[in-house]
Amino acid sequence: MKVTILSLFPEFFESMLQTSIIGRAVRNEVCKIELINIRDFGEGKHKIVDDKPFGGGPGMLMKAAPIIEAIRSVKTKDSHVVYLSPQGSVLNAKKCECLAKSHKHLILLCGHYEGIDQRVIDLEVDEEISIGDYVLTSGMIPALVVLDGVLRFVDGAIGNKDSVYSDSFHGGYELKGAQYTRPATYEGLAVPEVLQSGNHQEIASWREDVAKQKSLKRKNINTRKASCIR
Ligand code: SAM
Repeated sequence: MKVTILSLFPEFFESMLQTSIIGRAVRNEVCKIELINIRDFGEGKHKIVDDKPFGGGPGMLMKAAPIIEAIRSVKTKDSHVVYLSPQGSVLNAKKCECLAKSHKHLILLCGHYEGIDQRVIDLEVDEEISIGDYVLTSGMIPALVVLDGVLRFVDGAIGNKDSVYSDSFHGGYELKGAQYTRPATYEGLAVPEVLQSGNHQEIASWREDVAKQKSLKRKNINTRKASCIR
C-alpha cells in the first residue's frame, strides 16, 4: 500500500514514520509513505496558501488551487482521497479495515487554520473522515491516527495477524477482557487464579465473560455524554 500525506508541515511526520510498527512497515516496504508540502504549490513569490473567508468570519482558509494542484500531482487511477475533517464520518475499526483492503493508494489531506475551500472537497475528495467529535488545530494528528489504524490491517505490517482480529472491536464482544503479565501479585492485586491454572477451556470462558462485562459497561457509559469531571 502507498500512503501520501499532504500537509503544510511534512517534518511533523518524520520521527513517527521511523518509529515502532509504522517505522518497521516502512523499512520492510509493506507500506510506502510519501510526504508532500502543500506550500510547494502555493501562489506567487511568497507561496501563499491561505486567504480570508468570503462572507467574513474568523481566521484564514486554505485556498483551493494549491491543494488541488498538490493532489493532482500525486493522484492516479488507484488513489482514494481522504480529507481529515471534524465534519466527516467518525472513524472506527471497520472503516480502518475497509480502507486497508479496498485501496492501493490513500491520499490523506490535512487541513490547517480554519479548514479548506469547499471546492477542494467538491472536486477532489472521495471521503471526509473525522477522528471524533472535537476540533484539533490541524489534520496532521488525525492523519497519523488513520495511518496507524489502517496499517494494522495491511498484510505484513503486524507480525502476528491473529492479534489484530482478537483485539477490541473485532472479537465476539466489543472490547477485549482484562490482561495481565508478571508479577502474579502487584501492590496487593493478584492475577485471577484461573489465568494461572493452565486450563485453556476455563481461561477462554473467563476471558469471554470479562469481555462481555466490560463491553456492557462501556455501552452503558457511552449512552451518557462525556462530561467535565472536576
Ligand atoms: N473550521 C473547521 C470546523 O469548524 O469544522 C475546523 C477547522 S480545524 C481548526 C483545522 C483542521 O484540523 C481541519 O481542516 C481538519 O483537517 C483538522 N481537524 C480538526 N479536528 C479534526 C477531527 N476531529 N477529525 C479530523 N480532522 C480534524
